[in-house]
Amino acid sequence: METKTAKLLDGKSLAAKIQQELCAAITKLQPQIGRPPGLAVLMVGDDPASAAYVRGKENACKKVGIASFGKHFPVETTQAELESVIAALNHDERVDGILVQLPLPSHLDAVTLLHQIDPDKDADGLHPINLGRLVRQEPGLRSCTPYGIMRLLREYEIPLQGKQAVVVGRSILVGKPMALMLLEADATVTIAHKSSHDLGAITKNADILITAVGRPGLVTAEMVKTGAVVVDVGMNRVTDADGNSRLVGDVNFDSIKSVAEFLTPVPGGVGPMTVAMLLQNTVNSYSKEL
Ligand code: NAP
Repeated sequence: METKTAKLLDGKSLAAKIQQELCAAITKLQPQIGRPPGLAVLMVGDDPASAAYVRGKENACKKVGIASFGKHFPVETTQAELESVIAALNHDERVDGILVQLPLPSHLDAVTLLHQIDPDKDADGLHPINLGRLVRQEPGLRSCTPYGIMRLLREYEIPLQGKQAVVVGRSILVGKPMALMLLEADATVTIAHKSSHDLGAITKNADILITAVGRPGLVTAEMVKTGAVVVDVGMNRVTDADGNSRLVGDVNFDSIKSVAEFLTPVPGGVGPMTVAMLLQNTVNSYSKEL
């Protein structure tokens, strides 16, 4: 008997398509606005993973025609210095989006910095004003990772209305805004976290299962309903017995692909969509200039 295999939710291809669309939109808007859109990515310190993410974001900006106003600060930079940089960027008319790359060194208070960003330039969609707009179902800049997941589900015409959706993880970055977006799309939403009892019984009930935890192999095939849509946000670096390291998600991809109907790969699923939505948010702010 032939084994069934889940269809891949290909975030990499969709992100490339979105980038092309944004590039075309910018080409059209630029003569009217008189400048390209601008994004400032602020990074503090030398964390190699953060540096790689920042490079990825800046390369993506370049591809679509967004000007980068990124700044890389030494690890000893103070809170006051960063606050004054953010204040200047808030008033800089060439800049439509500002984001602070996390994590920050421990002497800095990320939440306070985030609150200083003009909510209309909050490219990451994490400012309390934008989270509040999401709660109230008002237009605003949306958190990039869940926004990207919603876009991916829409592309594959996955119905959400009336479906049982389970989000594992309740961070401000992913889990909570994800749950709110699914609720906005009329799904029936359950959020699981560390204190949830019998995670498998909860996830097994999901038509749409989103995992945003950061634990490799947390979700196995027995925990997934046949025909479910599984979106794996987790990004975990693991080292194999031969010493090679690779990136894996929170779900056991190989076993779940014969149970799920749709499944995101890691890498190539949610990650590229997050970057695409960062660009989208920047262009959304830019187009408000008209
Ligand atoms: P986080 O802030 O550490 O939150 C993790 C969440 O998982 C918490 O709510 C925690 O519950 C929950 N959790 C931990 N262990 C659990 C368990 N055994 N059972 C159920 N829930 C459990 O992480 P995050 O920032 O949301 O990121 C989650 C993962 O997504 C990470 O791997 C991160 O690298 C990845 N990520 C990927 C992208 C992308 O673009 N692909 C973007 C953002 C994040 P409590 O609240 O009870 O502690």
